[in-house]
Amino acid sequence: MHRFPRTRTRYLCAALAAVICALDIWLRLGVAVGVCYIAVIWLAARDVYPRYLLVTSGICMLLILLGAYFSPAGSDPLDAFINRGLSLGAVGLITYILLNQQRTNKLQARLASIIETTDDAISAMDTLGRITDWNPSAEKLYGYTAAEVIGTGADFTVPAELQHERDYIALQLEKYGAVNNFETERLHKDGHRIPVSITVSYMRDSYGSVVGVSSLIRNLSNLQELINYQDKLNNELTHTNDALQQSNMDLQQFAYTASHDLQAPLRRIRSFIQILQSDHSDNLDELGKQWLQRTVDGVGEMHTLIEDLLSFSRVESEHRPLIDVNLNDIMDKVRSLQDERTDSNNVIITSDELPVISADPTQMLQLFSNLISNGLKYNDNETPTVHVSSQTYAGQTVLSFRDNGIGIKPEHHDRIFEIFNRLHSAQDYSGTGIGLAICRRIAIKHGGNLWLESELGKGSVFYCAIPQPVTNKHSPSGPVDIATPA
Ligand code: ADP
Repeated sequence: MHRFPRTRTRYLCAALAAVICALDIWLRLGVAVGVCYIAVIWLAARDVYPRYLLVTSGICMLLILLGAYFSPAGSDPLDAFINRGLSLGAVGLITYILLNQQRTNKLQARLASIIETTDDAISAMDTLGRITDWNPSAEKLYGYTAAEVIGTGADFTVPAELQHERDYIALQLEKYGAVNNFETERLHKDGHRIPVSITVSYMRDSYGSVVGVSSLIRNLSNLQELINYQDKLNNELTHTNDALQQSNMDLQQFAYTASHDLQAPLRRIRSFIQILQSDHSDNLDELGKQWLQRTVDGVGEMHTLIEDLLSFSRVESEHRPLIDVNLNDIMDKVRSLQDERTDSNNVIITSDELPVISADPTQMLQLFSNLISNGLKYNDNETPTVHVSSQTYAGQTVLSFRDNGIGIKPEHHDRIFEIFNRLHSAQDYSGTGIGLAICRRIAIKHGGNLWLESELGKGSVFYCAIPQPVTNKHSPSGPVDIATPA
């Protein structure tokens, strides 16, 4: 709509109102004064602000009353009252109509800008099924310009075998008043199909009568591409995962077979060297004897390494059901194994009353055995001590293995759980660097975890959390046959 510059309009209104007022006083316009002021108000409605229209209307009403005061039209007060009343009514009515029109115009302008700029295609049809609106996005989606389609039916956008959908949509519209996100396909001008989601609703006039149907059509091509891409990624991920699992299984099998098959030749070498050492060492000079002893030690280390590797691969490959395991029995077994291994009786292994937990007994023995023997091995104390206790937090049994050993710097707390990672040389402390990796695997296989708190020179506490499906029983549930870990 064309508008005069704002200030000029306002001056014009003021001048016109002043002229009308002067004419009113001078010529006694009577009821015609209302009609004249309507022109002022019509002019004021050109201004964008409704408040200006209201103010102008108020001033005009005041001027009408002023005119009545200075120049009553006619001598009859009743005539004057009727004249001025009619004028005021006319000014009030026209103000009301113009205000409403202003509001409607603004709303229409806002809607038009939304329709013009939205990414969704919007079309409208009258009650006879002829297209009345076709926004720029609809032009882009279908490839037809508004000029080409306005006034025609919309069936050219529907593929032949989907024409029945139009009846379905009409039925749904009649039943529910709207159809939301109906997913289908539509035809582009060049013949290619477009996956779309359509929302259709009735358009009604201010009296509620249906004047047409509007459709909002969303292009799903990008979404479809995204879904396809996501599917592709998921497939690749599944394949990679399968391949990884397979390679993991192969590696486990390889480690198991290699370490298992290495045992027999190593045993033979060991027995030959023992024969050499017992029957022929007299034939060797001092240096020869030293070399032989080194070979015996090397074979012994290799034997331990192979045994540890076997245990490591067994943790993953063996699947035994979890059963109730009395951890006090495990402690007894560890103590007797410890007695068998060392003749030193200045080590102390103590424990609180431990619970019965759901676990693999063989693996539990291995875990206890490794952690306790580490606590005693990495220990310069006169009386190496390990104390085992347990607590239950949020459905998990948390076991703690506290020693008074040499301790571990915090920066090494993670790496000691990696296979073959050792903090000490074989001269200082013997070992293969596999024990803690086995322990962590056991904890993870039980759904739990293994971690530690330690500082150099202040001993260590290893914590092992094992989730428990049922409430822990603190009473022994009878003897369980525990296989000694290899
Ligand atoms: P291994 O004892 O055969 O070397 P582990 O995996 O059991 O292998 O331990 C890895 C390393 O962690 C050890 O070499 C040692 O340096 C360190 N470690 C393990 N337990 C303790 C402990 N209780 N106190 C101090 N250091 C430890």
